[in-house]
Amino acid sequence: MADECIFCGIVNDEIPAKIVYRDDEVVAFEDIKPVAPVHILVIPTRHIDSVRDLTREDDAMLGKLIGTANQLAKDKDIHDHGFRLNMNVGPNGGQTVYHLHVHLLGGRFMTWPPG
Ligand code: AMP
Ligand code: ZN
Repeated sequence: MADECIFCGIVNDEIPAKIVYRDDEVVAFEDIKPVAPVHILVIPTRHIDSVRDLTREDDAMLGKLIGTANQLAKDKDIHDHGFRLNMNVGPNGGQTVYHLHVHLLGGRFMTWPPG
């Protein structure tokens, strides 16, 4: 766990969150400032700053994040209409919280390109 990491705090139940899924490797919770009717963050329980810090050892964990997001899309009834999975990476990618996370966004049409 990284000191003063908000998302590690959520993993450890020190910071409150609306958790929608949890197992040993992955936690998913509602984004505090949703930008779509469904906006869930899927994170690894182990702290890692961002995609830039991944190694090939993390391939299975990354697959699990995507698989969990896909399952949650089914649970939230946005699977048929489609949804967006988003990872912001580093300053130019717009990342604000440096604990790896996948945004699951759905319930409305998503425009492209992003801002
Ligand atoms: P990013 O900009 O990709 O790093 O996304 C970080 C996301 O974390 C933003 O959408 C924030 O609204 C969200 N966020 C920040 N703090 C919390 C929190 N305490 N609980 C839930 N979501 C949070
Ligand atoms: Zn963390």
